[in-house]
Amino acid sequence: MESKKILVCGDVGGSYQQLFKRIETVNKSNAGPFQILLCVGSFFEPFTPTSQSVSVEFDDIQLPAELVKYCNGELTVPIPTYFIAYTSNDAKYIAKFTDENGSLCKNLHYLGKSGVKTLLNDINVAFLSGKVDFPVKEETNQDDLFDMTITKSEIKQVIDSSIDKRIDILLTNQWPRNILHYVEQIPNHIKHPFKKGMDGIKEVSDKIKPAYHFSKDSFYLQRLPFLNNSPLTKVTRFLSLAPVYNDKKEKYLFAMNYQPDKEIITTDATQNPFEFKQPEEQQQQQALKRQRNNNDESSGNFFFGSAGDSQYQKQQNRQQQQLRHKKNVDVNCWFCLSSPDVDSGLIVTVSSENYLAFAKGGVVENHLLIVFIEHKPSYVSLEESERNDVDNMIEILREYFNKHHDQDIVLFERNVPLKGQVSHGHLQVIPIPKNLASSVKQEFDQHADQVNIQFNEVKDINADLLHLSQDSSYFFVILPDGSKMYSLLPKDKPFDYQFGRRVIVDLLKTPEKLNWKDCVVEKEKEKLLVSGFRESFQPFFDNHKLNNDSNDNEQ
Ligand SMILES: [Zn+2]
Repeated sequence: MESKKILVCGDVGGSYQQLFKRIETVNKSNAGPFQILLCVGSFFEPFTPTSQSVSVEFDDIQLPAELVKYCNGELTVPIPTYFIAYTSNDAKYIAKFTDENGSLCKNLHYLGKSGVKTLLNDINVAFLSGKVDFPVKEETNQDDLFDMTITKSEIKQVIDSSIDKRIDILLTNQWPRNILHYVEQIPNHIKHPFKKGMDGIKEVSDKIKPAYHFSKDSFYLQRLPFLNNSPLTKVTRFLSLAPVYNDKKEKYLFAMNYQPDKEIITTDATQNPFEFKQPEEQQQQQALKRQRNNNDESSGNFFFGSAGDSQYQKQQNRQQQQLRHKKNVDVNCWFCLSSPDVDSGLIVTVSSENYLAFAKGGVVENHLLIVFIEHKPSYVSLEESERNDVDNMIEILREYFNKHHDQDIVLFERNVPLKGQVSHGHLQVIPIPKNLASSVKQEFDQHADQVNIQFNEVKDINADLLHLSQDSSYFFVILPDGSKMYSLLPKDKPFDYQFGRRVIVDLLKTPEKLNWKDCVVEKEKEKLLVSGFRESFQPFFDNHKLNNDSNDNEQ
Protein backbone atom coordinates (compact mmCIF):
# COMPACT_ATOMS: atom_id res chain seq x y z
CA MET A 1 0.00 0.00 0.00
CA GLU A 2 1.35 3.36 -0.95
CA SER A 3 1.80 6.07 1.63
CA LYS A 4 -0.93 8.60 2.33
CA LYS A 5 -0.36 12.25 3.00
CA ILE A 6 -2.91 13.44 5.50
CA LEU A 7 -3.38 16.69 7.43
CA VAL A 8 -5.34 16.96 10.69
CA CYS A 9 -6.34 20.14 12.53
CA GLY A 10 -7.99 21.19 15.82
CA ASP A 11 -11.05 23.45 16.36
CA VAL A 12 -11.59 25.45 13.18
CA GLY A 13 -14.14 27.68 14.87
CA GLY A 14 -15.00 29.60 11.69
CA SER A 15 -11.39 30.55 10.80
CA TYR A 16 -11.69 29.05 7.32
CA GLN A 17 -9.59 31.54 5.38
CA GLN A 18 -6.67 31.29 7.77
CA LEU A 19 -6.84 27.50 7.65
CA PHE A 20 -7.20 27.14 3.89
CA LYS A 21 -4.39 29.63 3.25
CA ARG A 22 -2.15 27.59 5.49
CA ILE A 23 -3.13 24.37 3.70
CA GLU A 24 -2.19 25.93 0.37
CA THR A 25 1.22 26.91 1.73
CA VAL A 26 1.88 23.49 3.24
CA ASN A 27 0.71 21.84 0.04
CA LYS A 28 3.35 23.71 -1.96
CA SER A 29 6.13 22.86 0.50
CA ASN A 30 8.44 19.88 0.10
CA ALA A 31 6.23 17.85 2.42
CA GLY A 32 3.19 18.27 0.14
CA PRO A 33 0.99 17.84 -1.67
CA PHE A 34 -1.51 16.43 0.81
CA GLN A 35 -4.51 14.34 -0.10
CA ILE A 36 -7.07 15.13 2.61
CA LEU A 37 -7.60 17.33 5.65
CA LEU A 38 -9.44 16.03 8.75
CA CYS A 39 -10.81 18.44 11.38
CA VAL A 40 -11.75 17.74 15.00
CA GLY A 41 -13.50 20.07 17.45
CA SER A 42 -15.93 22.89 16.97
CA PHE A 43 -16.13 23.68 13.25
CA PHE A 44 -18.37 26.72 12.87
CA GLU A 45 -17.80 28.79 16.01
CA PRO A 46 -14.87 29.11 18.41
CA PHE A 47 -15.19 26.47 21.11
CA THR A 48 -16.67 27.36 24.50
CA PRO A 49 -17.53 24.88 27.28
CA THR A 50 -21.20 23.87 27.29
CA SER A 51 -21.91 25.85 30.43
CA GLN A 52 -20.75 29.10 28.82
CA SER A 53 -21.93 28.59 25.29
CA VAL A 54 -24.72 30.68 23.86
CA SER A 55 -27.31 28.75 21.94
CA VAL A 56 -28.25 30.35 18.62
CA GLU A 57 -31.79 30.04 17.28
CA PHE A 58 -32.01 27.84 14.22
CA ASP A 59 -33.70 30.60 12.19
CA ASP A 60 -30.88 33.02 13.03
CA ILE A 61 -28.13 30.71 11.75
CA GLN A 62 -26.44 32.17 8.67
CA LEU A 63 -23.79 30.80 6.38
CA PRO A 64 -20.48 32.11 7.79
CA ALA A 65 -19.21 35.02 5.68
CA GLU A 66 -15.84 33.32 5.18
CA LEU A 67 -17.57 30.35 3.55
CA VAL A 68 -19.79 32.27 1.12
CA LYS A 69 -17.18 32.44 -1.67
CA TYR A 70 -16.48 28.72 -1.33
CA CYS A 71 -20.15 27.88 -1.52
CA ASN A 72 -20.89 30.04 -4.56
CA GLY A 73 -17.91 28.59 -6.42
CA GLU A 74 -15.75 31.71 -6.50
CA LEU A 75 -13.10 29.90 -4.42
CA THR A 76 -12.34 26.21 -3.94
CA VAL A 77 -11.42 24.48 -0.70
CA PRO A 78 -7.80 23.42 -1.46
CA ILE A 79 -8.07 19.69 -0.67
CA PRO A 80 -10.95 17.35 0.29
CA THR A 81 -11.75 18.25 3.87
CA TYR A 82 -13.74 16.13 6.34
CA PHE A 83 -14.88 17.39 9.73
CA ILE A 84 -16.65 16.18 12.85
CA ALA A 85 -18.80 18.58 14.90
CA TYR A 86 -18.86 19.38 18.57
CA THR A 87 -21.57 21.73 19.80
CA SER A 88 -25.30 21.96 19.25
CA ASN A 89 -24.68 25.17 17.30
CA ASP A 90 -22.48 23.13 14.95
CA ALA A 91 -25.41 20.74 14.54
CA LYS A 92 -27.66 23.64 13.50
CA TYR A 93 -25.25 24.84 10.78
CA ILE A 94 -25.00 21.29 9.51
CA ALA A 95 -28.76 20.81 9.43
CA LYS A 96 -29.18 24.07 7.56
CA PHE A 97 -26.31 24.08 5.05
CA THR A 98 -25.19 20.56 4.20
CA ASP A 99 -26.83 18.31 1.62
CA GLU A 100 -27.99 14.76 2.30
CA ASN A 101 -24.40 13.49 1.93
CA GLY A 102 -23.09 15.94 4.49
CA SER A 103 -21.45 18.16 1.86
CA LEU A 104 -21.32 21.89 2.53
CA CYS A 105 -19.67 22.76 -0.78
CA LYS A 106 -17.08 21.22 -3.07
CA ASN A 107 -14.37 19.52 -0.97
CA LEU A 108 -16.03 20.22 2.39
CA HIS A 109 -17.86 17.34 4.08
CA TYR A 110 -19.34 16.55 7.48
CA LEU A 111 -18.40 12.98 8.50
CA GLY A 112 -21.50 12.47 10.64
CA LYS A 113 -22.41 11.94 14.30
CA SER A 114 -20.63 8.61 14.70
CA GLY A 115 -19.32 5.77 12.57
CA VAL A 116 -16.43 4.40 10.55
CA LYS A 117 -15.75 5.60 6.98
CA THR A 118 -13.16 4.52 4.46
CA LEU A 119 -11.30 7.42 2.83
CA LEU A 120 -8.54 7.35 0.17
CA ASN A 121 -9.58 3.80 -0.78
CA ASP A 122 -8.29 2.03 2.30
CA ILE A 123 -7.90 4.39 5.24
CA ASN A 124 -10.46 3.54 7.93
CA VAL A 125 -11.49 6.59 9.93
CA ALA A 126 -13.61 6.08 13.05
CA PHE A 127 -15.24 9.22 14.45
CA LEU A 128 -17.48 10.54 17.19
CA SER A 129 -18.98 14.03 16.91
CA GLY A 130 -20.36 15.76 20.00
CA LYS A 131 -19.37 15.07 23.59
CA VAL A 132 -19.73 12.18 25.94
CA ASP A 133 -20.90 12.68 29.52
CA PHE A 134 -20.04 10.79 32.63
CA PRO A 135 -21.81 8.48 33.11
CA VAL A 136 -22.46 7.88 29.42
CA LYS A 137 -26.07 8.76 28.54
CA GLU A 138 -28.52 6.15 27.25
CA GLU A 139 -30.11 8.61 24.84
CA THR A 140 -29.97 12.21 23.69
CA ASN A 141 -32.32 14.86 25.02
CA GLN A 142 -35.60 14.26 23.19
CA ASP A 143 -36.62 17.91 23.50
CA ASP A 144 -33.48 19.16 21.79
CA LEU A 145 -33.17 18.28 18.10
CA PHE A 146 -29.57 19.48 18.11
CA ASP A 147 -28.33 17.76 21.25
CA MET A 148 -24.81 16.48 20.49
CA THR A 149 -24.49 14.12 23.44
CA ILE A 150 -22.79 10.85 22.56
CA THR A 151 -24.94 7.90 23.62
CA LYS A 152 -24.08 4.37 24.70
CA SER A 153 -25.47 2.95 21.46
CA GLU A 154 -23.27 5.26 19.35
CA ILE A 155 -20.21 4.11 21.26
CA LYS A 156 -21.25 0.51 20.72
CA GLN A 157 -21.89 1.15 17.02
CA VAL A 158 -18.39 2.57 16.45
CA ILE A 159 -16.86 -0.36 18.31
CA ASP A 160 -18.97 -2.92 16.44
CA SER A 161 -18.16 -1.37 13.05
CA SER A 162 -14.46 -1.60 13.83
CA ILE A 163 -14.35 -5.30 14.59
CA ASP A 164 -11.73 -7.10 12.49
CA LYS A 165 -10.72 -3.85 10.78
CA ARG A 166 -7.50 -1.98 11.04
CA ILE A 167 -8.62 1.44 12.25
CA ASP A 168 -6.08 3.94 10.96
CA ILE A 169 -7.50 7.06 12.51
CA LEU A 170 -9.90 7.86 15.34
CA LEU A 171 -11.32 11.39 15.65
CA THR A 172 -12.93 12.57 18.92
CA ASN A 173 -13.45 15.92 20.59
CA GLN A 174 -12.55 14.73 24.08
CA TRP A 175 -9.54 12.86 25.38
CA PRO A 176 -9.72 9.29 26.58
CA ARG A 177 -9.50 9.01 30.35
CA ASN A 178 -6.13 7.86 31.79
CA ILE A 179 -4.26 8.69 28.57
CA LEU A 180 -1.48 10.41 30.55
CA HIS A 181 -0.59 7.35 32.59
CA TYR A 182 2.95 6.17 31.81
CA VAL A 183 3.81 9.62 30.47
CA GLU A 184 6.95 10.78 32.20
CA GLN A 185 6.89 14.45 31.42
CA ILE A 186 3.41 15.84 31.76
CA PRO A 187 3.16 19.55 30.87
CA ASN A 188 2.86 21.66 34.01
CA HIS A 189 -0.23 23.49 32.84
CA ILE A 190 -2.31 20.32 32.97
CA LYS A 191 -3.71 20.70 36.45
CA HIS A 192 -5.21 17.26 37.05
CA PRO A 193 -3.59 14.94 34.53
CA PHE A 194 -5.24 11.80 35.86
CA LYS A 195 -8.71 13.29 35.90
CA LYS A 196 -8.41 14.38 32.33
CA GLY A 197 -10.46 12.70 29.65
CA MET A 198 -13.64 10.70 29.50
CA ASP A 199 -14.37 7.03 30.15
CA GLY A 200 -16.60 6.74 27.08
CA ILE A 201 -13.76 7.84 24.78
CA LYS A 202 -11.33 5.56 26.57
CA GLU A 203 -13.64 2.62 25.91
CA VAL A 204 -13.67 3.38 22.19
CA SER A 205 -9.91 3.85 21.85
CA ASP A 206 -9.19 0.81 23.98
CA LYS A 207 -11.47 -1.43 21.94
CA ILE A 208 -10.79 -0.27 18.37
CA LYS A 209 -7.02 0.30 18.85
CA PRO A 210 -6.46 2.97 16.19
CA ALA A 211 -3.01 3.68 14.76
CA TYR A 212 -3.66 7.39 15.33
CA HIS A 213 -6.10 9.05 17.72
CA PHE A 214 -6.65 12.78 17.17
CA SER A 215 -8.43 14.95 19.68
CA LYS A 216 -8.29 18.60 20.67
CA ASP A 217 -7.78 21.04 23.50
CA SER A 218 -6.64 24.63 23.90
CA PHE A 219 -3.03 23.43 23.51
CA TYR A 220 -0.99 20.96 21.47
CA LEU A 221 0.12 17.64 22.89
CA GLN A 222 1.67 14.61 21.28
CA ARG A 223 1.90 11.57 23.50
CA LEU A 224 4.55 8.91 23.01
CA PRO A 225 2.98 5.95 21.20
CA PHE A 226 1.65 3.24 23.48
CA LEU A 227 1.37 -0.52 22.97
CA ASN A 228 -2.26 -1.35 22.25
CA ASN A 229 -2.22 -5.19 21.98
CA SER A 230 -3.43 -5.10 18.39
CA PRO A 231 -1.63 -7.30 15.84
CA LEU A 232 -2.71 -4.84 13.13
CA THR A 233 -1.71 -1.45 14.50
CA LYS A 234 0.53 -2.50 17.44
CA VAL A 235 0.73 1.03 18.84
CA THR A 236 -1.66 3.99 19.16
CA ARG A 237 -0.33 7.50 18.70
CA PHE A 238 -2.44 10.06 20.56
CA LEU A 239 -2.31 13.71 19.56
CA SER A 240 -4.30 16.66 20.81
CA LEU A 241 -4.41 19.70 18.53
CA ALA A 242 -4.84 23.37 19.42
CA PRO A 243 -7.56 25.55 17.85
CA VAL A 244 -6.81 27.15 14.47
CA TYR A 245 -7.63 30.56 15.97
CA ASN A 246 -5.33 30.30 19.03
CA ASP A 247 -3.13 33.33 19.64
CA LYS A 248 -0.35 31.47 21.45
CA LYS A 249 1.07 29.98 18.25
CA GLU A 250 0.18 26.52 19.55
CA LYS A 251 0.38 23.89 16.84
CA TYR A 252 -3.01 23.28 15.27
CA LEU A 253 -2.05 21.41 12.12
CA PHE A 254 -0.47 17.97 12.05
CA ALA A 255 0.97 16.60 8.82
CA MET A 256 1.53 12.90 8.36
CA ASN A 257 3.01 10.71 5.72
CA TYR A 258 1.16 7.58 6.73
CA GLN A 259 2.52 4.23 5.59
CA PRO A 260 0.28 1.53 7.02
CA ASP A 261 2.47 -1.29 5.68
CA LYS A 262 5.72 -0.01 7.05
CA GLU A 263 7.02 -2.05 9.93
CA ILE A 264 5.93 -0.45 13.16
CA ILE A 265 8.76 0.43 15.50
CA THR A 266 7.75 -0.08 19.08
CA THR A 267 10.97 0.78 20.86
CA ASP A 268 9.80 4.20 22.01
CA ALA A 269 6.33 2.98 22.99
CA THR A 270 5.07 3.08 26.57
CA GLN A 271 2.87 0.50 28.22
CA ASN A 272 -0.85 0.74 27.61
CA PRO A 273 -2.16 3.62 29.78
CA PHE A 274 -5.61 2.00 29.89
CA GLU A 275 -4.07 -0.95 31.68
CA PHE A 276 -2.29 1.20 34.20
CA LYS A 277 -1.33 -0.62 37.36
CA GLN A 278 -0.38 1.07 40.55
CA PRO A 279 3.05 0.40 41.99
CA GLU A 280 3.02 -2.85 43.89
CA GLU A 281 3.49 -1.44 47.34
CA GLN A 282 0.44 0.75 46.98
CA GLN A 283 -1.59 -2.17 45.76
CA GLN A 284 -0.71 -4.26 48.75
CA GLN A 285 -1.69 -1.47 51.11
CA GLN A 286 -5.03 -1.14 49.38
CA ALA A 287 -5.60 -4.85 49.51
CA LEU A 288 -4.93 -4.83 53.23
CA LYS A 289 -7.30 -1.94 53.65
CA ARG A 290 -10.04 -3.68 51.73
CA GLN A 291 -9.64 -6.81 53.82
CA ARG A 292 -10.07 -4.76 56.96
CA ASN A 293 -13.11 -3.05 55.50
CA ASN A 294 -14.66 -6.35 54.64
CA ASN A 295 -14.16 -7.61 58.13
CA ASP A 296 -15.63 -4.48 59.64
CA GLU A 297 -19.30 -5.37 59.93
CA SER A 298 -20.22 -2.14 61.62
CA SER A 299 -19.25 0.23 58.85
CA GLY A 300 -22.42 0.63 56.85
CA ASN A 301 -21.66 2.16 53.51
CA PHE A 302 -24.38 4.55 52.46
CA PHE A 303 -23.39 4.77 48.88
CA PHE A 304 -22.23 1.40 47.75
CA GLY A 305 -23.50 -0.61 50.65
CA SER A 306 -24.38 -3.88 49.08
CA ALA A 307 -25.99 -5.62 52.00
CA GLY A 308 -29.70 -6.22 51.73
CA ASP A 309 -32.05 -8.21 53.83
CA SER A 310 -32.85 -11.17 51.68
CA GLN A 311 -30.98 -14.40 52.06
CA TYR A 312 -30.10 -14.22 48.39
CA GLN A 313 -28.47 -10.85 48.73
CA LYS A 314 -26.56 -11.92 51.79
CA GLN A 315 -25.20 -14.85 49.88
CA GLN A 316 -24.29 -12.60 46.97
CA ASN A 317 -22.48 -10.28 49.29
CA ARG A 318 -20.53 -13.08 50.80
CA GLN A 319 -19.54 -14.25 47.35
CA GLN A 320 -18.50 -10.76 46.37
CA GLN A 321 -16.44 -10.43 49.49
CA GLN A 322 -14.75 -13.74 48.83
CA LEU A 323 -14.06 -12.59 45.31
CA ARG A 324 -12.53 -9.42 46.64
CA HIS A 325 -10.33 -11.39 48.97
CA LYS A 326 -9.21 -13.52 46.10
CA LYS A 327 -8.43 -10.76 43.67
CA ASN A 328 -7.75 -8.15 46.26
CA VAL A 329 -4.60 -7.04 44.54
CA ASP A 330 -6.58 -5.17 41.93
CA VAL A 331 -9.57 -3.99 43.90
CA ASN A 332 -9.90 -0.33 44.57
CA CYS A 333 -11.96 2.04 46.61
CA TRP A 334 -15.75 2.15 46.36
CA PHE A 335 -15.78 5.89 45.93
CA CYS A 336 -12.85 6.39 43.55
CA LEU A 337 -14.25 6.99 40.07
CA SER A 338 -11.58 4.82 38.49
CA SER A 339 -12.53 1.90 40.69
CA PRO A 340 -14.27 -1.08 39.13
CA ASP A 341 -16.51 -1.18 42.21
CA VAL A 342 -17.97 2.25 41.69
CA ASP A 343 -21.73 2.15 41.06
CA SER A 344 -21.85 4.77 38.34
CA GLY A 345 -25.62 4.43 38.09
CA LEU A 346 -25.90 6.41 41.33
CA ILE A 347 -23.85 9.34 40.08
CA VAL A 348 -25.76 12.52 39.30
CA THR A 349 -23.00 14.77 38.01
CA VAL A 350 -19.26 15.23 38.19
CA SER A 351 -17.68 18.57 39.04
CA SER A 352 -13.98 19.34 38.82
CA GLU A 353 -13.03 18.28 42.39
CA ASN A 354 -16.08 16.36 43.61
CA TYR A 355 -19.03 14.45 42.33
CA LEU A 356 -22.64 14.21 43.39
CA ALA A 357 -24.25 10.82 43.89
CA PHE A 358 -27.32 9.27 45.42
CA ALA A 359 -26.88 7.56 48.77
CA LYS A 360 -27.84 3.93 48.76
CA GLY A 361 -30.80 3.48 51.09
CA GLY A 362 -31.40 7.19 51.47
CA VAL A 363 -33.10 8.52 54.61
CA VAL A 364 -35.17 10.88 52.44
CA GLU A 365 -36.07 10.73 48.76
CA ASN A 366 -33.18 12.83 47.44
CA HIS A 367 -30.51 11.89 49.97
CA LEU A 368 -27.26 12.81 48.22
CA LEU A 369 -23.55 12.55 48.79
CA ILE A 370 -20.88 15.02 47.77
CA VAL A 371 -17.89 12.77 47.22
CA PHE A 372 -14.34 14.11 46.81
CA ILE A 373 -12.75 13.00 43.56
CA GLU A 374 -9.35 12.59 45.20
CA HIS A 375 -9.14 9.76 47.66
CA LYS A 376 -8.93 12.00 50.74
CA PRO A 377 -10.45 11.29 54.13
CA SER A 378 -12.27 14.48 55.08
CA TYR A 379 -13.47 17.98 54.28
CA VAL A 380 -10.69 19.25 56.51
CA SER A 381 -8.02 17.37 54.56
CA LEU A 382 -8.93 19.00 51.24
CA GLU A 383 -6.80 21.56 49.51
CA GLU A 384 -8.31 24.99 49.15
CA SER A 385 -9.35 24.57 45.51
CA GLU A 386 -10.97 21.24 46.33
CA ARG A 387 -12.83 22.71 49.29
CA ASN A 388 -13.97 25.65 47.20
CA ASP A 389 -15.44 23.28 44.68
CA VAL A 390 -17.31 21.43 47.46
CA ASP A 391 -18.58 24.75 48.85
CA ASN A 392 -19.66 25.70 45.37
CA MET A 393 -21.58 22.45 44.98
CA ILE A 394 -23.27 23.04 48.35
CA GLU A 395 -24.44 26.50 47.31
CA ILE A 396 -25.81 25.23 44.01
CA LEU A 397 -27.66 22.44 45.83
CA ARG A 398 -29.05 24.89 48.38
CA GLU A 399 -30.41 27.09 45.62
CA TYR A 400 -31.69 24.16 43.61
CA PHE A 401 -33.66 22.58 46.48
CA ASN A 402 -35.01 25.98 47.43
CA LYS A 403 -36.23 26.74 43.91
CA HIS A 404 -37.34 23.32 42.70
CA HIS A 405 -38.48 21.51 45.83
CA ASP A 406 -39.15 24.32 48.30
CA GLN A 407 -36.73 22.62 50.68
CA ASP A 408 -33.70 23.47 52.78
CA ILE A 409 -30.63 21.26 53.08
CA VAL A 410 -28.64 19.91 56.01
CA LEU A 411 -25.16 18.51 55.47
CA PHE A 412 -22.99 16.46 57.74
CA GLU A 413 -19.74 14.59 57.80
CA ARG A 414 -18.51 12.02 60.27
CA ASN A 415 -14.76 11.73 60.15
CA VAL A 416 -13.26 8.94 62.20
CA PRO A 417 -9.79 8.06 60.93
CA LEU A 418 -9.03 4.38 61.20
CA LYS A 419 -5.56 3.19 61.97
CA GLY A 420 -3.36 2.56 58.97
CA GLN A 421 -5.89 3.42 56.31
CA VAL A 422 -7.29 6.42 54.59
CA SER A 423 -11.01 6.27 53.97
CA HIS A 424 -12.63 8.10 51.06
CA GLY A 425 -14.47 11.09 52.46
CA HIS A 426 -17.84 12.54 51.54
CA LEU A 427 -20.54 14.86 52.85
CA GLN A 428 -24.13 13.72 53.32
CA VAL A 429 -26.76 16.06 51.90
CA ILE A 430 -30.29 15.80 53.33
CA PRO A 431 -33.09 17.96 51.92
CA ILE A 432 -35.74 18.78 54.56
CA PRO A 433 -39.03 20.72 54.66
CA LYS A 434 -38.46 24.42 55.26
CA ASN A 435 -40.63 24.54 58.39
CA LEU A 436 -38.13 22.27 60.14
CA ALA A 437 -35.05 24.29 59.24
CA SER A 438 -35.01 26.26 62.48
CA SER A 439 -35.16 23.06 64.58
CA VAL A 440 -32.12 21.38 63.08
CA LYS A 441 -29.53 22.92 65.39
CA GLN A 442 -31.54 22.09 68.48
CA GLU A 443 -32.02 18.51 67.35
CA PHE A 444 -28.28 18.06 66.84
CA ASP A 445 -27.52 19.68 70.20
CA GLN A 446 -29.96 17.40 72.06
CA HIS A 447 -28.48 14.30 70.50
CA ALA A 448 -25.00 15.60 71.23
CA ASP A 449 -25.93 15.92 74.91
CA GLN A 450 -27.00 12.30 75.01
CA VAL A 451 -23.63 11.08 73.79
CA ASN A 452 -21.54 13.63 75.69
CA ILE A 453 -20.24 15.66 72.84
CA GLN A 454 -20.71 19.36 72.22
CA PHE A 455 -21.06 21.29 69.02
CA ASN A 456 -19.08 24.48 68.58
CA GLU A 457 -19.88 27.06 66.01
CA VAL A 458 -17.34 27.39 63.21
CA LYS A 459 -16.83 31.12 62.91
CA ASP A 460 -13.67 31.05 60.87
CA ILE A 461 -13.10 27.88 58.95
CA ASN A 462 -9.33 28.31 59.03
CA ALA A 463 -9.02 29.06 62.71
CA ASP A 464 -11.72 26.74 64.01
CA LEU A 465 -11.64 23.70 61.81
CA LEU A 466 -8.68 23.52 59.51
CA HIS A 467 -6.19 23.49 62.37
CA LEU A 468 -7.46 20.05 63.36
CA SER A 469 -4.80 17.47 62.85
CA GLN A 470 -5.37 14.82 60.22
CA ASP A 471 -6.03 12.16 62.82
CA SER A 472 -8.69 14.03 64.82
CA SER A 473 -12.14 12.48 64.82
CA TYR A 474 -14.90 15.02 64.34
CA PHE A 475 -18.53 15.42 63.40
CA PHE A 476 -19.26 18.37 61.16
CA VAL A 477 -22.66 19.91 60.37
CA ILE A 478 -23.70 22.58 57.89
CA LEU A 479 -27.09 23.97 58.91
CA PRO A 480 -29.82 25.16 56.52
CA ASP A 481 -28.75 28.80 56.94
CA GLY A 482 -25.20 27.91 55.91
CA SER A 483 -23.66 28.20 59.35
CA LYS A 484 -21.28 25.45 60.36
CA MET A 485 -20.65 23.63 63.62
CA TYR A 486 -18.48 20.75 64.68
CA SER A 487 -17.66 18.57 67.61
CA LEU A 488 -14.53 16.59 68.29
CA LEU A 489 -15.30 12.97 69.01
CA PRO A 490 -13.95 10.91 71.88
CA LYS A 491 -10.80 9.02 70.97
CA ASP A 492 -11.14 6.26 73.52
CA LYS A 493 -14.43 4.71 72.42
CA PRO A 494 -16.14 4.18 69.05
CA PHE A 495 -18.62 6.83 68.03
CA ASP A 496 -22.11 5.95 66.74
CA TYR A 497 -21.74 5.73 62.98
CA GLN A 498 -25.49 6.34 62.67
CA PHE A 499 -25.37 9.60 64.65
CA GLY A 500 -26.27 11.94 61.78
CA ARG A 501 -28.99 9.69 60.48
CA ARG A 502 -30.41 9.29 63.99
CA VAL A 503 -30.76 13.07 64.32
CA ILE A 504 -32.46 13.32 60.94
CA VAL A 505 -35.04 10.57 61.55
CA ASP A 506 -35.92 12.16 64.88
CA LEU A 507 -36.26 15.54 63.23
CA LEU A 508 -38.46 14.14 60.46
CA LYS A 509 -40.25 11.70 62.81
CA THR A 510 -39.44 8.74 60.58
CA PRO A 511 -37.82 6.25 62.99
CA GLU A 512 -38.45 3.41 60.54
CA LYS A 513 -35.80 4.93 58.29
CA LEU A 514 -32.93 4.73 60.75
CA ASN A 515 -31.29 1.73 59.15
CA TRP A 516 -30.20 2.38 55.57
CA LYS A 517 -30.69 -1.26 54.74
CA ASP A 518 -34.42 -0.85 55.33
CA CYS A 519 -34.52 1.98 52.79
CA VAL A 520 -32.79 0.36 49.84
CA VAL A 521 -35.08 0.49 46.81
CA GLU A 522 -35.16 -1.84 43.84
CA LYS A 523 -32.55 -1.30 41.18
CA GLU A 524 -35.13 -0.21 38.56
CA LYS A 525 -36.74 2.31 40.87
CA GLU A 526 -33.34 3.59 41.91
CA LYS A 527 -32.42 4.13 38.26
CA LEU A 528 -35.56 6.17 37.66
CA LEU A 529 -34.97 8.19 40.81
CA VAL A 530 -31.41 9.07 39.81
CA SER A 531 -32.18 9.81 36.14
CA GLY A 532 -35.22 11.91 37.05
CA PHE A 533 -33.18 13.97 39.47
CA ARG A 534 -30.28 14.29 37.05
CA GLU A 535 -32.51 15.56 34.28
CA SER A 536 -33.77 18.37 36.45
CA PHE A 537 -30.52 19.14 38.27
CA GLN A 538 -27.97 18.98 35.45
CA PRO A 539 -29.18 22.06 33.49
CA PHE A 540 -29.42 23.98 36.77
CA PHE A 541 -25.90 22.89 37.68
CA ASP A 542 -24.48 23.79 34.25
CA ASN A 543 -25.91 27.28 34.56
CA HIS A 544 -24.54 27.83 38.03
CA LYS A 545 -21.11 26.29 37.85
CA LEU A 546 -18.70 29.02 38.81
CA ASN A 547 -15.28 27.60 38.25
CA ASN A 548 -15.47 26.36 34.73
CA ASP A 549 -12.52 24.70 33.17
CA SER A 550 -11.33 25.99 29.87
CA ASN A 551 -12.65 22.93 28.14
CA ASP A 552 -14.95 19.96 28.54
CA ASN A 553 -12.24 17.43 28.96
CA GLU A 554 -12.07 17.13 32.70
CA GLN A 555 -14.60 15.06 34.45
ZN1 LIG B 1 -11.22 6.33 47.02
